[in-house]
Amino acid sequence: MDLKKIFSEIYDSLNDVEDAGKVADYIPELANVSPDHFGVHLVTVDGQHYDFGDSDIRFSIQSIAKVFSFVMAYSQIKSTIWERMDVEPAGTPFNSLVQLEYDKGIPRNPFINAGAIVVCDILAGELASPKDNIRSFVRDLCGNRTIDYNPLVAHSEKKTGFRNYALVNLMKSFGNIHNDIDAVMDLYFHLCSLEMSCRELSDSFLFLANNGIVPYSGKQILSPSRTKRTNALMQTCGFYDEAGQFAFKVGLPGKSGVGGGIVAVLPGKYAISVWSPRLNPKGNSFKGMLFLEEFTTRTHLSIF
Ligand code: GLU
Repeated sequence: MDLKKIFSEIYDSLNDVEDAGKVADYIPELANVSPDHFGVHLVTVDGQHYDFGDSDIRFSIQSIAKVFSFVMAYSQIKSTIWERMDVEPAGTPFNSLVQLEYDKGIPRNPFINAGAIVVCDILAGELASPKDNIRSFVRDLCGNRTIDYNPLVAHSEKKTGFRNYALVNLMKSFGNIHNDIDAVMDLYFHLCSLEMSCRELSDSFLFLANNGIVPYSGKQILSPSRTKRTNALMQTCGFYDEAGQFAFKVGLPGKSGVGGGIVAVLPGKYAISVWSPRLNPKGNSFKGMLFLEEFTTRTHLSIF
């Protein structure tokens, strides 16, 4: 299959669709991105790369980073994650307080904000230098030592993260946050500020399409069984309260972020990343989702 040609045909067909999305501006620094960027990158487990558009420009990966922190905790930390969070789709917005109150401070899954904040609490309590350790982990996954946090984005979010502070305080009141709140939130905001390109994202997620092994280094990050479970979590919880729509339309496990990125994997075959900053009302990239829907429909390369 000529994937580059397919990318370009799909992109052209989307030109006729009005981009009804809106760039995230609730974190002020995110509003500075040019809304018309569009990039795609696909890498196969046997090392073939296909790209299109702005695939080498770094952007704020935001919630996509929750997969990295979760995998790090799941693979390296001895304490039981599953006593502190669940594995159920939330069905409510990613920063909802209502459900958390109802569930007595136990987040529904590791990919909503509350769940990722608990993962940060676990990592903050167990790693020697959590910010450095997470950054090294991500750098190793994609083989690029220049990947970094954007301190301006982390700071911007810290200044305006009232709802995230409400989540962490609510969980602390239920005894589900063990460390100092400011240390946990500093880690969380830095995690979300990681910047990567589509190419780097696809490379770093490829182990989830390869039974938990990073193809370029041969390093086993997760066992096949934990890889399966991580993919199941991405499938059911990776797209805010639109995970059902994403499964219905695209049919791949993945994760999106409010920076407009989406990364998804087809186990045994490939990882693909798309970046288009305008978001639909649920917080997923408007064009990115349309693009992936068209891609898996034309190529039959989905899990269903
Ligand atoms: N840092 C963002 C927040 O906490 C992440 C949102 C996202 O990408 O889902 O609101």
